[in-house]
Amino acid sequence: MRVPFLGLDRQTAALRADLDAAWARVAGSGRYVFGEELERFEAELAAYCGVRHAVGVASGTDAITTALAALGIGPGDEVITAANTCVPTVVGIEATGATAVLADADPRRFTLDPARLHEALSPRTKAIVPVHLYGQCSDMAEIGRIATELGIAVIEDCAQAHGARLGERRAGSLGAAAAFSFYPTKNLGALGDAGAVTTDDPEVAERARLLRNYGDGGRFHHVLRGRNSRLDTLQAALLRAKLPFLEAWNERRREIAARYTRALAGSGVEPPVEASGGRHVYHLYVVRTERRDAFRAALAQCGIETDVHYPLAVHEQPAYAQLAPGGRELHSSERLAASVVSLPLHPQLTDEEVGYVAEGARAAAERH
Ligand SMILES: *Cc1c(COP(=O)(O)O)cnc(C)c1O
Repeated sequence: MRVPFLGLDRQTAALRADLDAAWARVAGSGRYVFGEELERFEAELAAYCGVRHAVGVASGTDAITTALAALGIGPGDEVITAANTCVPTVVGIEATGATAVLADADPRRFTLDPARLHEALSPRTKAIVPVHLYGQCSDMAEIGRIATELGIAVIEDCAQAHGARLGERRAGSLGAAAAFSFYPTKNLGALGDAGAVTTDDPEVAERARLLRNYGDGGRFHHVLRGRNSRLDTLQAALLRAKLPFLEAWNERRREIAARYTRALAGSGVEPPVEASGGRHVYHLYVVRTERRDAFRAALAQCGIETDVHYPLAVHEQPAYAQLAPGGRELHSSERLAASVVSLPLHPQLTDEEVGYVAEGARAAAERH
């Protein structure tokens, strides 16, 4: 059997009639930028996240930039994020003109370690961008407590956490603002690029709306220096067609994750840990093993595709070497980069494929 890492073609095929109807509605409307489809998607996304406002933008990276800029963060400011995130988080921060400062990850939860935050703080720190990596919320209670004490903002990177929860609250409602990506592979994905900012603060929402559209406050009266980062009406319509399925898809992800975790128990390969009181939505199912190459090779031999998210911590990337902090360590992030492996997990996997991956992973782990 061959189990590919992704199955977006299957998801599109299953929803083809709904997606075709969305496309036809937009095509026939004559309205291809802004308009009712976008407004409805924004309202539906805000309701889903449990916040008052959502503002569609062109990508997840732009959502991070827009959220930070809407909160007044820019040149001269420092923004802390996790050293084990994917690079777009840092791209989004740097696009505001602010400086990204990396802090270390919690080696079990894989998210920003609040106990290590103080090392990265300086008098110029204006915001923290915790990344809800792989589908699990960061320790927002502790991060929020520290941020409140210092009077700085917390902006969630929710690109991998659509529908994740801490207690009863959803990702996207846990900070001053949040950034979502709808890149096709995400738990909720467009058929192209798309993103959104969510917030409860009407002023932040209003500034985000201005910033995504050249700061135009109405008919060529520019009140902010913004840029062009709009969410296409067509992508908004396609996302509206998909949003009602997100909960069921996330439940299926959790079911598959539970099956893999049972199979790997005591095998020597460490399954991911779900923090108590939270709902992990397994954007990625990431295990840890010191013998990554052998484990991946054994899985490849039985046709199971794996991947590594991410093979280098941000400061280990050639383009970001200058973000390596002098005088402090980011060892947990570096060790994670050297030992993580992602198994295929998406809602369109069949039970047979899930069983095959679970047994294949168990066998590969025991062969170590
Ligand atoms: C995908 C992703 C982004 C960037 O989203 P784009 O839509 O590709 O710009 C940012 N942060 C994280 C954690 C991501 O996974």
